[in-house]
Amino acid sequence: MTMKDTPVRYIKGVGPKKEAGFNDLGVYTVGDLLYYFPFRYEDRRLLKKIKELSGDQAALVKGEVVACNLKNMSYFRRAKKVKSIFEIGLADNSGRINCVWFNQGYLSDKIKVGDKIVVYGKPRVSDGRLKLISPEYEYFGNESLNLDRIVGIYSLSSVFNQKFMRKILSVAFRHYKDGIFESLPFYIRQQKSFPNIVKSLNSIHFPDCWQAAEKAREKFIFEELFFSQILVYLRKSKRQFRKGIVLKSNNEFINKLKNNLVFELTSSQKEAVSKILGDLAKSYPMHRLLQGDVGCGKTVVSAFAAGICVDCGYQAAVMVPTEILAYQHKETLDRMFKETRFRVEVVTSSLPRAKIKKIHNDLETGKINIIIGTHALIQEEVKFKKIGLVIIDEQHKFGVAQRALLPKKTETNPHCLVMSATPIPRSLALSLYGDLDLTVIKDMPQGRKIPNNIWVKENKRQWVYSFLRDKLKEKRQIYVVYPVIEENQDQDLKSLEVMYKDLSKKFSPYSVGMFHGRMKPLEKLEVIDKFKKNDIHILLSTTVVEVGVNIENATVMLVENPERFGLAQLHQLRGRIQRSNHQPHFILISKNDLSDVASRRLDVISSVTDGFKIAEEDLIIRGPGDFFGHIQHGIPKLRIASPLRDLEVLKEARLFAYNVIKNDPYLEKPQHKCIREHLGFWFQKTED
Ligand code: ADP
Ligand code: MG
Repeated sequence: MTMKDTPVRYIKGVGPKKEAGFNDLGVYTVGDLLYYFPFRYEDRRLLKKIKELSGDQAALVKGEVVACNLKNMSYFRRAKKVKSIFEIGLADNSGRINCVWFNQGYLSDKIKVGDKIVVYGKPRVSDGRLKLISPEYEYFGNESLNLDRIVGIYSLSSVFNQKFMRKILSVAFRHYKDGIFESLPFYIRQQKSFPNIVKSLNSIHFPDCWQAAEKAREKFIFEELFFSQILVYLRKSKRQFRKGIVLKSNNEFINKLKNNLVFELTSSQKEAVSKILGDLAKSYPMHRLLQGDVGCGKTVVSAFAAGICVDCGYQAAVMVPTEILAYQHKETLDRMFKETRFRVEVVTSSLPRAKIKKIHNDLETGKINIIIGTHALIQEEVKFKKIGLVIIDEQHKFGVAQRALLPKKTETNPHCLVMSATPIPRSLALSLYGDLDLTVIKDMPQGRKIPNNIWVKENKRQWVYSFLRDKLKEKRQIYVVYPVIEENQDQDLKSLEVMYKDLSKKFSPYSVGMFHGRMKPLEKLEVIDKFKKNDIHILLSTTVVEVGVNIENATVMLVENPERFGLAQLHQLRGRIQRSNHQPHFILISKNDLSDVASRRLDVISSVTDGFKIAEEDLIIRGPGDFFGHIQHGIPKLRIASPLRDLEVLKEARLFAYNVIKNDPYLEKPQHKCIREHLGFWFQKTED
């Protein structure tokens, strides 16, 4: 058994209870343990004379125990019950200080007068004298793991403390160090002047000096990012060996499609189209992420791909998260393909059974060229005659499994275009979606207005309502977004209805409509249709309008209790009203007293309009753990690196990884054996 798969309970000192504690931390094997790094260090080399001690400055003191006293008692100190106090006097040649421990009576058996010990702690004034309260202690002379050195501080489980962690690490390290494999090839280590793996592991846990700790951290950050990128390039190269479908583009046809547009494509859109058409003409399947802020016009770009696919005699499938979006896409495609005989259909689970059956049939016989659908698209019965392209819109709305399912429905390898409005900084996109090629649409269609953001508290509601009346008089339409967290909770929907009645009364004779997730699919389509035709002037809605609804004249949005929404969600909502040349107004009415985090979020949303900047702020406010939680897929959890902070390292690691896979796509060369082995170690649990 190697260290990588030896269970932690084999380490001396780890029983079942402690093992469970390690498992809670995600540590199962000796390998996991050695790669469980401290999150910070403490310098405990600051040996001081007792007379030099001053309040609140942690310090290390060596001395002889000159007095011991154990008192058993019962009283409350800072709301905690105290049963015993153990106090000792410690002296060196400069003076004397008392050390105090609460409820640790057993120490009286361990520490005796005459013992020479080292203690580490913060002196505090107690009973008018400086004392060390519950310091860590050790006998001196032994080589110490905890005192008189730089020590690592770890995230812990509740069943052990820092001291135990360090002890187990040291036992494991000494016992298993001969079984630790080198992770990075020698030539890379040499170029980067990284120490070997054994030395690096030793230095990250038990550094001799700050430089050693720093160098080890640097190495492991690099190593982690390097391996994530190796994985990315491995997947990419595997894809390039898969046989795809060559879809040759046809200029005449493309020009015809362009002429059917009522607008000129932006330069980003043009670039994206030509990139994608280039991909389709290659002999291996496309796997591209098209990213761009809400409203930048991703749909038309994808329509060109679908058009070429059908022009070449293949079918295309478009997966969308909502029915409304499905019908909206159909409208866009029908308009672009009006002179062709392409047949575009929508399939959703709310259609009559017979109709669905007919669609399935027509798909299988090839009578339908482009199918747009919600989850209904990934049902078992759906079969294609000749699928060439899969488009997944608003990919963050789908689970990993769903995304994976659709392209797998066929024996052939269709091209795959994934679209997302979740703006992620490019560096993150590279490391998170690294196996996808990335195209970003940077510019917005011409003439789009920057929204006028207004954030007020409850006391300005009347003012807001009169503002809304003015906009209605100018013939604009309005969204009112109401936070219904659990759409299936009657209580929440009831308050939505109360709001609906109130708005209908206050804004009469203008008409108010209501839109929420519990409505039947047909009702939803009807309401959106009325809103589109301006029969409804104010649409009171839950966040279901967040995705894709496109109504150009609705340029005003009021968000109730915006503090209950996340930044990304608010940004998506705002995207609804930036669809035309009318000035958009985005109004937030928040509670009077907000938490700091909520205020900060609302501050950001009302001062920043660039989706990418908002994503970065979101990352800062929420912290990477939370942020990655829902977007990371198939990439192992990063333990020490942070792609945003370590961007430069990421770029470098990426380049190294690229060269490795380019020269040795199967990792067969002897100098890359270590990469193979380390991948096996690192990815055994995390690969999906
Ligand atoms: P998203 O990228 O959020 O999916 P859409 O594709 O829904 O955005 O496009 C938003 C709106 O912008 C649509 O009404 C679309 O017709 C329009 N649009 C797209 N490209 C352009 C352009 N180049 N010029 C003007 N309007 C455009
Ligand atoms: Mg869209």
